[in-house]
Amino acid sequence: MTSPIDLVRADLRDFAGYRSARSDRLTGDVWLNANESAWPNAADDGSARRYPDPQPQALREKLASLYGCAPEQLLAGRGSDEAIDLLVRALCAPGQGAVVTTPPTFGMYAVSARLHGVRVVEVPLVDGEGAFRCDIDAVGDASLASGATLVFLCSPGNPTGDVVPLDDVRRLATRLEGRAVVVVDEAYQEFASTPSALTLLGETNNVVVLRTLSKAHALAGARLGVAIGDADLIAVLRRCQAPYPLPSPCIALVSDALDDAALARTRGATALAVQERARLAGALRVAPGVRLVYPSASNFVLVRFDDAQGAFDALLSAGVVVRDVRAQPGLGDALRITVGRPDENDRVLSVLAGAIA
Ligand SMILES: *Cc1c(COP(=O)(O)O)cnc(C)c1O
Repeated sequence: MTSPIDLVRADLRDFAGYRSARSDRLTGDVWLNANESAWPNAADDGSARRYPDPQPQALREKLASLYGCAPEQLLAGRGSDEAIDLLVRALCAPGQGAVVTTPPTFGMYAVSARLHGVRVVEVPLVDGEGAFRCDIDAVGDASLASGATLVFLCSPGNPTGDVVPLDDVRRLATRLEGRAVVVVDEAYQEFASTPSALTLLGETNNVVVLRTLSKAHALAGARLGVAIGDADLIAVLRRCQAPYPLPSPCIALVSDALDDAALARTRGATALAVQERARLAGALRVAPGVRLVYPSASNFVLVRFDDAQGAFDALLSAGVVVRDVRAQPGLGDALRITVGRPDENDRVLSVLAGAIA
């Protein structure tokens, strides 16, 4: 079996990254090796005086147990946005490489590629029979034809809400072994009822799964996301990452959020969001002016309107801000509405009922 590190940029294979003051595992009780201040800041309780551990082992272990992987298979970073950027930088030669995306999809894949001077090869999702579907054979064909080393699948998809079946991910990964890493961005996996691509990690080594604490865990402001995959590839990504990616206050907050009681509350809120998604989608399907509500495995619904501008304006003037996705290919009449609390969803429904009446 080939290793995914064979796909790492040739000029980075022996790149060790920055050696920080925390790189050498030294011990002592007087720390004078990192030019930190000897006195705490007046606004600080003392916990931020030192540079943080780049990948705190306790945090890594908690995250690994949450996602059911080994700690060395997991890289913690500043949101999955950082993981996307690291994958592009590590696997694509600047000015030469290519990545494959499946629009309409999350915008950061193309942003990271563009910033790195890498070509974006688009294989549009197929929109048919009231749902979006990923044409996995076309994705494989385009990857091989373009020489792309990275494929971004978003499942559940943003903004489409569709799920890429795991059999398709497995088939693509097998076909692209030795050629490309298949990234499955599972930012919304907690809201889905289908199994995670993490279950494929035992049988393939060119699948990387992205997870985040920004959505179901309600910690978008803490900026904590992870890449999970082959341990050697994860070690390469770490060497490409900033020396101290995780701020101390975020490490502490996320660590608390992964305790049993907090996780139980997160699961409760997730179940409520799933229930509200069904209620919101059901009511929108029979609302005046609504053309189509796509099935969603996420915490939002994608809705086509007779008059999307009118719906957007009516909601906005009632103080309700939704995402205008009309600039995305094939979505010229669509808005993406995040599932809110029951009272917030009621407001969406009553504004839309009144806007047409
Ligand atoms: C929200 C979102 C993310 C962003 O995750 P962060 O961890 O907040 O950077 C990643 N992927 C998709 C598809 C998203 O919708």
